[in-house]
Amino acid sequence: RKPVPSDIDIAQESDLKPISQIAEELGLLPEEVEFYGPYKAKVKLEVLNRLQDAPSGKYIDVTAITPTPLGEGKTTTTVGLSQALGALLNYRVMTCIRQPSQGPTFGIKGGAAGGGYSQVIPMEEFNLHLTGDIHAITAANNLAAAAIDARILHESDATDEQLFNRLIPAGKDGKRHFSRLMLERVRKLGYATDNPDDLTPEQRRKLCRLDIDPDTITWRRVIDTSDRFLRGITVGQGEEEKGLERKTGFDITVASEIMAVLALTTSLKDMRDRFGRIVVALSKGGEAITCSDLGVSGAMTVLMRDAIKPNLMQTLEGTPVFVHAGPFANIAHGNSSILADQIALKLADYVVTESGFGADMGMEKFFDIKCRASGLIPNVVVLVATVRALKMHGGGPKVVAGKPLDKAYTEENLDLLRAGIPNMLHHIKLARKYGIPVVVAVNRFATDTPAELELVRKAAVEEGGAFAAAVCEHWEKGGEGALELAKAVVDAANQPSKFQFLYPLDKSIKEKIETIAREVYGADGVDYSPEAEERIAEYTRLGFDKLPVCMAKTHLSLSHDPNLKGVPKGFRIPVRDIRASVGAGFVYPILGKMSTMPGLPTRPAFYDVDIDLETGRVVGLF
Ligand code: ADP
Ligand code: MG
Repeated sequence: RKPVPSDIDIAQESDLKPISQIAEELGLLPEEVEFYGPYKAKVKLEVLNRLQDAPSGKYIDVTAITPTPLGEGKTTTTVGLSQALGALLNYRVMTCIRQPSQGPTFGIKGGAAGGGYSQVIPMEEFNLHLTGDIHAITAANNLAAAAIDARILHESDATDEQLFNRLIPAGKDGKRHFSRLMLERVRKLGYATDNPDDLTPEQRRKLCRLDIDPDTITWRRVIDTSDRFLRGITVGQGEEEKGLERKTGFDITVASEIMAVLALTTSLKDMRDRFGRIVVALSKGGEAITCSDLGVSGAMTVLMRDAIKPNLMQTLEGTPVFVHAGPFANIAHGNSSILADQIALKLADYVVTESGFGADMGMEKFFDIKCRASGLIPNVVVLVATVRALKMHGGGPKVVAGKPLDKAYTEENLDLLRAGIPNMLHHIKLARKYGIPVVVAVNRFATDTPAELELVRKAAVEEGGAFAAAVCEHWEKGGEGALELAKAVVDAANQPSKFQFLYPLDKSIKEKIETIAREVYGADGVDYSPEAEERIAEYTRLGFDKLPVCMAKTHLSLSHDPNLKGVPKGFRIPVRDIRASVGAGFVYPILGKMSTMPGLPTRPAFYDVDIDLETGRVVGLF
């Protein structure tokens, strides 16, 4: 075996096709493509109109068993499988994956472009900035944050009449007109008039004074850096804002509801409507205050008007890739965008997408949140399993990122491996519960032995009831290493899909949480903190109880406790808090301690990153 070079060396040595060629091969028209340099482009949503009547390809979700902190190779497998399907078997294929956050890129995990000979390139661009979508999300999120605090300030020292005059000033014609955003609020309040001067003083007050209760503000600022010192901050300490100090904090941008909206939206209009519905706080009277009420949802849409278009890139073997949206799968719903998948399904025979972390996390949310919002029916689940993760579930020593693996993982140990197999069986069973055939991809690492790989493969099919299982070597060999997997996926895709959701939306919030806790995590039940009980009552009162549920849970265990490996039994799930993303369209219970802002370790990944001043190349990015 030849040693495999570093990801960045492989990526930088590879031949890139101009992205115009990739677009042409896909059958995109020149006017449907916007170029961002030679190797990246955005695809306009108009293509969906043109291809409305085209047949749809098969829809494949790549997920995994409960991973180690190192990741078990979902992205790598998503890319390797696509390369096998597209470059070797000559199917029309598209890969749809998330854009990574700079938090993990410079922090602990490293990049997310795949690895070895199965990568999306140029990987520097993929991992950093891309076409600026994440920056646009930061801008839109923080504009709404600024709108909230400024509105409270301006309402604090104005009379009703002053507020009315300032918010609805007379135009050049000397008359007052409602702006489009103001008119939305006029209609929401049920006032039929188009003329501001028709309003009674009481109506003017209700229209213009939002009366936001600062203690109820749930909207936080965001930045796409793992910056733990922003987790808790005090705003309003300037001279001019005296008396309005308030404790708040930052989340990482990919945890923003704006990111969730980008991933779940289906059109520009739908995105604007969702921004309008985002609830940022309650009024002192207990009514939900939205971005539409603040008059900011139009401007947010403008900031996001390019971000809504999927980004076109390529794999090492020249197959097309959409990179679009990037919510985490533990604190958010963990799936790339619906729009990218919709376009891809019209352009390709096979669309391979990745959902984040294990099947209990990203896949459950793929089905119950993403597919519910899109109406798309998945055909196959590819479940990535590794010998190392299964050994960890069998009781192997702790796996720590950045430290060498214990020899339990690098030498043959069939007993340890066998003890961990139930975790894989649990995930296969879970995927089958949704009525979808499962193909297990045993992602081979150099130290895995043939007996170990065969044990996993056999158990997947014989004990788990997987449709098929294949040992793959796409990390080492590219698409060629995933040919057997690709053939199994094609066979599985031709099975009838009997897709069904885990729960209906009309169940109560608690019933939905408990269904997921019992059926997906294997918990005995759920315990709610007093805060969670209060929120559930409030959301039910406000009518947010018919939304799907997006659990914020650790990805390192089927339970809420990252230390419980394998298939934990005899535990109850603690719901500490619950929040509503009304624009994105889900409520999210927070299980145990889940941080929405990661921190940097002592030696972050950025230590290795530098620029070669002679060639201008990036070095050390994995
Ligand atoms: P996930 O998407 O599941 O988090 P990735 O595909 O990003 O996982 O893989 C995690 C890391 O493991 C990456 O650095 C990748 O290059 C590496 N990796 C994946 N498969 C293999 C393999 N078979 N051998 C060696 N390294 C691998
Ligand atoms: Mg990944």
